[in-house]
Amino acid sequence: MATYTPMIQQYLKIKAEYQDAFLFFRLGDFYEMFFEDAKRASAELEITLTSRDGGGAERIPMCGVPYHSAPGYIESLIEKGYKVAICEQTEDPKQAKGVVRREVVQLITPGTVMNGKGLQERENNYLASVTEFPSKFGFAVTDLSTGENQVTLLNHIDDIINEMYSLGAKELVVHPDFSESYIKKIAERSRVTVSFEIDSGTEKFESIINHLEDARLKETFGRLHNYLQKTQKRSLDHLQKVKVYQLQDFMKIDLYSKRNLELTETIRSKGKKGSLLWLLDETKTAMGARMLKQWIDRPLLSKNEIESRLQMVQSLLDHYFEREDLRERLKEVYDLERLAGRVAFGNVNARDLIQLKKSLQQVPAIKEVLTSVKHNQINEMAEKIDPCTELTDLLDAALVENPPLSIKDGNIMKDGFHEQLDQFRDASRNGKSWIAELEQQERMRTGIKSLKIGFNRVFGYYIEVTRANVHLLEEGRYTRKQTLTNAERFITPELKEKETLILEAEEKMVDIEYELFVKLREQVKEFIPRLQSLSKCISELDVLQCFAVISEKRHYSKPSFSDQELFIKNGRHPVVEKVMNSQEYVPNDCYFSNERGMLLITGPNMSGKSTYMRQVALTSILAQIGCFVPASEAVLPIFDQIFTRIGAADDLISGQSTFMVEMLEAKNAIVNATDNSLILFDEIGRGTSTYDGMALAQAIIEHIHHHIGAKTLFSTHYHELTSLADGLPQLQNVHVSAIEENGKVVFLHKIEEGPADKSYGIHVAELAELPAELIERAKEILESLEAEQTVKVPASVIEKPETFKSDEAQLSFFNEQPAKKESRQVPKKDMLVLEQLRAINLLEMTPLDAMNELYQIQKKLK
Ligand code: ADP
Repeated sequence: MATYTPMIQQYLKIKAEYQDAFLFFRLGDFYEMFFEDAKRASAELEITLTSRDGGGAERIPMCGVPYHSAPGYIESLIEKGYKVAICEQTEDPKQAKGVVRREVVQLITPGTVMNGKGLQERENNYLASVTEFPSKFGFAVTDLSTGENQVTLLNHIDDIINEMYSLGAKELVVHPDFSESYIKKIAERSRVTVSFEIDSGTEKFESIINHLEDARLKETFGRLHNYLQKTQKRSLDHLQKVKVYQLQDFMKIDLYSKRNLELTETIRSKGKKGSLLWLLDETKTAMGARMLKQWIDRPLLSKNEIESRLQMVQSLLDHYFEREDLRERLKEVYDLERLAGRVAFGNVNARDLIQLKKSLQQVPAIKEVLTSVKHNQINEMAEKIDPCTELTDLLDAALVENPPLSIKDGNIMKDGFHEQLDQFRDASRNGKSWIAELEQQERMRTGIKSLKIGFNRVFGYYIEVTRANVHLLEEGRYTRKQTLTNAERFITPELKEKETLILEAEEKMVDIEYELFVKLREQVKEFIPRLQSLSKCISELDVLQCFAVISEKRHYSKPSFSDQELFIKNGRHPVVEKVMNSQEYVPNDCYFSNERGMLLITGPNMSGKSTYMRQVALTSILAQIGCFVPASEAVLPIFDQIFTRIGAADDLISGQSTFMVEMLEAKNAIVNATDNSLILFDEIGRGTSTYDGMALAQAIIEHIHHHIGAKTLFSTHYHELTSLADGLPQLQNVHVSAIEENGKVVFLHKIEEGPADKSYGIHVAELAELPAELIERAKEILESLEAEQTVKVPASVIEKPETFKSDEAQLSFFNEQPAKKESRQVPKKDMLVLEQLRAINLLEMTPLDAMNELYQIQKKLK
């Protein structure tokens, strides 16, 4: 190191503190990178790798990007998951003795992006942090761009993985001792940059966390915030009071199910298009779009809250003209939330503040529209909206309508805003008009019509006369300053005198304007909390109007809720319905009650089984986020959780086999579902051999039936399973119908009661005109196979959960009353034994007592 030049030594010293980041080292008009950074950056950014002499034995690899185009390069690196440390010259090179002092002024990371294309307008950009405690994890998230902070305690690492996935968190901050295997697990599921922070002290930001009672929450958030402080190195006044949330307050949909249901991205392209979010997004503001995604990620459980949203949607739906007016206004509202963030961050310009003003100017009208809608909650919302009028007035008084991008070149402030500024402006304007007059006078005096007065940076103001006319100038009055090919330029003492006045005034104006702008920015800072709560109201309103628009456009209806049954009349899959071009979507009903908790769906491939299952789940999710649903009528339970196992979602990233994933998803449902949950199992057991698969499928159905009691839709191509309905009172067969038309099978996509025609496959083969003897042979084989394997219903009947007890008064919505089933007879002595087993109090028994009891029981059975 000693042989390196002082600058390279300085570089190495700084770089040592930022090992995991690209160090952008400011050298004049460039950011340079050296050594390994240079090699990697040149490859990642496709820029030329050069080298320089740094005093060592070998030349040092080097590459660089011009200061002005750096943001684009930084964004590319961040997008690839890297971090970039911005190292600036922190003293004037002219004053420096020796090497110019340099410091890292900001560490930009995937979770702390504040602008540019790395920050998607309509998406949040979350930075998360997790801390492990005995039997709990603390989990905190911040969106630095909006200032939103949340924190919670989670029970299991899977919860963290789920949260990371649904929030789309880009970066995770942990203590250096945090378990590596956990990090690996998290990183398998979402692309995440991991960062380390030891310090979890909270003294510096007590104000936003002093309401947190749990020390674990404080510690977790503390770590996250210290990381932010250290990387951003500036005041972060826009960070909002930390919100504590509980997973149990929302419908739980695990990562697999979110993906399977394509709530916010599709399975195939991983893009938004084709997802539920895509279908719903009729929001007018970026803030609204972000809130819509948050709502989809967290459907509600509280009936009151759901009803409240639904009623506001209804009311906006009923008031067409008001809604259209509102939409027009919302369109003009910029991203107040992020503007507020950038004000705090100190990187807004005058144009941003004009956007802020224009947005705020819409607010009184929004308030007025809401007040005119006759609806209590909407009126309450109107009252909550704070138009921040003082701020609008201040911005209006201060800023010109079309300010330049730069805040250092003046022309930002309005006339009349600041007295001294006005004086200088007058001086400059007067000077300029004096000069314009002078031009006229000089033309008259000399008789040269083409004489003109110009200005350039080097010579200032000058009088320009073409060479042919120079002889007309009065001797001694003009001093020659510059000679051009065809003209000469002159100055006069009075011209120079005015020039000094004008330039002085202009210089002062620019200084004053900059000072005024900085002051204005500080004043705007005071409004940040008010702007943030305004943003919240506007976002909410935007999502509600979006629901109203969608519900009207797509003919959705308002759901109601019942804890007795689920009834969907003419239900549709919202996204499939939208993307079907010429074809008509065939609506279907769905019915569950206390006696009918499970549907076994059979039918040929591609007939619409999984679409049907998904539409039931999506209908419930839509209802629980407060949107109307794609059906002509819907009575729904409030589901606490939804589980799915649908299709062969490939899971190549984590290297698990498809069947393993299938089983993991099934396990997830079986372990966690309650009798308030919804389970969708599509072709479970398909991923293994027939017997294996069928056995598993049957066991799973029985398990859900006996032990869970969740509303379940189970599709299968094992027709043999349809006979299970004979022994399981809660299970009903339904099938997707198909007919033969002109020698072809036509799928009607219609769900009907009862099992599907068993020999469908052979029937299709027949229609396809496979040789007749082959078809006959297939039928023979089928018959013998069927004779061999009849599905056995278990001999022991386990008591059904409470919720499954029949309610005779229950109204059926279906014309055909589901056939009454007889419950199987259990031998009396078995019942007695079961009773006896149930009555045993193991806690108060010695092992010997237990042996005795066991002996008695066995005797009874023999
Ligand atoms: P399965 O699960 O039975 O194999 P899918 O649910 O995947 O079948 O449906 C196959 C295709 O049938 C879907 O992509 C869709 O285009 C169409 N389809 C499904 N349900 C309907 C419906 N109710 N109305 C019209 N078309 C439908």
